[in-house]
Amino acid sequence: MRKPIVAGNWKMNKTVAEAIELAAAIKRELGDCKDVDIVLCPPFTAIQAVSETITGSHVDLGAQNMHWEKSGAFTGEISAAMLRELYCHYVILGHSERRQYFGETDAIVNKKVKAALAANLKPIVCIGETLEEREAGRTEEVIETQVRGSLADLTPRDLVECILAYEPVWAIGTGKTATPEQAQEVHAFIRGLLRDIADEAVAQSVRIQYGGSMKPANARELMGQPDIDGGLIGGAALEARSFVEIVRGAI
Ligand code: PEP
Repeated sequence: MRKPIVAGNWKMNKTVAEAIELAAAIKRELGDCKDVDIVLCPPFTAIQAVSETITGSHVDLGAQNMHWEKSGAFTGEISAAMLRELYCHYVILGHSERRQYFGETDAIVNKKVKAALAANLKPIVCIGETLEEREAGRTEEVIETQVRGSLADLTPRDLVECILAYEPVWAIGTGKTATPEQAQEVHAFIRGLLRDIADEAVAQSVRIQYGGSMKPANARELMGQPDIDGGLIGGAALEARSFVEIVRGAI
């Protein structure tokens, strides 16, 4: 059985004071929750404060991005070791906003995935098609290219440390959610790809989150699908009440 994993991607939101308040409220409600892996991904500036706020609870910490090099002249970037130092255990990689606005390719995501794994960070690797690609009947082709490219050269041992997040770009921040059937279809396809890339054991172990306008009203049904193992939450993660309800929907 795969343990559900629900992560909140706070994006470029929350000052340090706001982040502490949100993390403290989530800890109050879910600090003892052992049935779901819960991950908060604040902006870099709030990671330390959130790390201190959630300490001693079952709520875990992630970042939204990192660089693949260990250190050096990369102005504005953050390394895996810097995240580990703040007790991050996860990092979101290849989010569609990174791909769209910052030119991240599968090759770049692959370098980041390898650097994260080398530093003992679990990558949450995002993949997903645009509306145009879906309407052109290219969803599976796009997903296959992203999965194979982002996870290239990983051993089965590496693969089971990864979490995949299927996030149809047309559903992110738009209020349009994939139906449970649409999402399940792509999740099953991704699991099939993992079987092909590695083996059945890997395919059955890797957790695949759904992301894209997930909210309390649709979370339980989405996460109830056989191949949907949790959620990556944007907008609804910015408020404790909705995030907590979504996590409860995973149990
Ligand atoms: C996301 O950006 O990862 C996301 C799923 O956003 P939202 O929930 O706001 O659609």
